[in-house]
Amino acid sequence: MPKVLRARRVSEVKDTAAAQPLVESRALTKHFPLGRHQTVHALDGVSLAIAPKEIVGLVGESGSGKSTYGKTLIGLHDKTSGEVIFDGERLPQSYHPKDFQRHARRMQMIFQDPYSSLNPRMTVGEIVGEGLRLHSKDTGRQIRDRVADWLERVGLSGDHMARYPHEFSGGQRQRIGIARALILEPDFVVCDEPISALDVSVQAQVVNLLDTLKASMGLTMLFIAHDLSMVRYVSDRMAVMYLGTVVEIGPANDVFFEPKHPYTEILIGSNPEPDPEAERHRDSTHIRGEIPSPVNVKPGCRFASRCPKVMDVCRTTTPELLPLKNVSGREVACHLFS
Ligand code: SF4
Repeated sequence: MPKVLRARRVSEVKDTAAAQPLVESRALTKHFPLGRHQTVHALDGVSLAIAPKEIVGLVGESGSGKSTYGKTLIGLHDKTSGEVIFDGERLPQSYHPKDFQRHARRMQMIFQDPYSSLNPRMTVGEIVGEGLRLHSKDTGRQIRDRVADWLERVGLSGDHMARYPHEFSGGQRQRIGIARALILEPDFVVCDEPISALDVSVQAQVVNLLDTLKASMGLTMLFIAHDLSMVRYVSDRMAVMYLGTVVEIGPANDVFFEPKHPYTEILIGSNPEPDPEAERHRDSTHIRGEIPSPVNVKPGCRFASRCPKVMDVCRTTTPELLPLKNVSGREVACHLFS
């Protein structure tokens, strides 16, 4: 965790339970057919509500379904079943391109890879201004002015407009991606591992930029990341995904320092400390084995094959995500707590 970042103060964390959600998924499911007889269960029944101006961090190993959730939430993937409610409106199961354009203005995504997510044949001005050309009635001159303004806001320069992506470093390219997503002034942004492809030295700069823009624009965010320390610093709440389901959710600091679900405990124990001194003294734990295949998932708890606390009931009955007794704002899907 870069040291320039600081944890959110308690006063900064909103009473999310009281707010009407801006974005909500209800039993959101996304399956991909694999050949004739098999199905990839990328997402299975994910229900999650995100309040206005809230940042929810989504963590889990590769293959847990985090990116699929973000993409399905904003309509980049069709839903297999379930609902997404955005600002009180139920979004369609799949989009007609015209409807998608209408929503795209309000829901944007910042992608993981600043190297492949920018078209190498377009100039920076064309990339950042593309959304305005599609979604606004601005003239060419107005678009150029807004692009120059946004390049300045993300720490670049209006003079960069005529250049191409390959002329920039990874951190600068991610800033271009951020300007492209935010120039439309969306209400909701999915940040899909926005820093994992960057050098550690520039990760904090990009996160601080997002934090500043979030504060000035009142953005609501789903922040997807591997790095739990980073997610704790930037998020109000943290949700933990395992094999297409949410297994734990709660205030970010509470989940990080007092994990309840056995998977969250191990995930946090295996998260390396950025401070080498702290890392030397860390009581590290490692998750045994690989995350199982999401093809034709077995009944029971999905973590049963790797869980050190597995019981007989875990292999036959799927645990529901339920509020923890006597612990405000925490939900856990585990038979140890049901
Ligand atoms: Fe482990 Fe059982 Fe809880 Fe699953 S339900 S996490 S297998 S104890």
